[in-house]
Amino acid sequence: RFITFEGGEGAGKSTQIRLLAKRLEKARLRTLVTREPGGSPGAEAIRSALLAGIGKLIGGADAEALLFAAARDDHVRTLIEPALARGEWVLCDRFYDSTRAYQGKLGAVSLDLLNALQQVTIGDMKPDLTVILDIPVEIGLARAAVRRGSETPDRFESEAIDFHRGLREVFRQIAAQEPERCVLIDANAEPEEVADRIWQAVRLRLLE
Ligand code: C5P
Repeated sequence: RFITFEGGEGAGKSTQIRLLAKRLEKARLRTLVTREPGGSPGAEAIRSALLAGIGKLIGGADAEALLFAAARDDHVRTLIEPALARGEWVLCDRFYDSTRAYQGKLGAVSLDLLNALQQVTIGDMKPDLTVILDIPVEIGLARAAVRRGSETPDRFESEAIDFHRGLREVFRQIAAQEPERCVLIDANAEPEEVADRIWQAVRLRLLE
């Protein structure tokens, strides 16, 4: 089974992935936790370059989208597909909905290019479930700032507040448009409470 997690900054994706992995392991289901951009050695190398701002050096949004796609291609082929073939549950922090949100709706990359890249990297593969963590922007950004401590934000995290509002809106739209694949979870609660909500959705949709 393939489950992806989406949401804006500070929505609690990594915490919730960890909590879901624990519950799955307890139910004796072998689980692999991974993330995008990144996940495999090659894709992690590309992630470092992306977060360091390589997009500005290589000619902008389309070129940057090619790097995101190269990272996904490697990640899917070397890590995700083999794990799914072994029967494991794969939990991935961000996947193509982030591409559609960041590079597409809020970025400068055309839907045609994104569709072409999707075809090359994943073809018809899609997540069995996408958990979209929804939280008011101010609360999410405050959480992300606490987590970051004194570290300076990477170039992706310093966008203006309107950007984050738009992001939240895009994820909510995706959830509304694809209710079979997506579940929108109110993430403005204690981690264990949010984990219960996610677990309920997973049980209902994938375990019963
Ligand atoms: O999920 P995480 O915060 O680790 O992602 C790193 C950064 O990469 C995010 O801040 C996000 O803004 C950015 N990103 C992006 N396009 C994607 C995936 C992530 O701009 N497709």
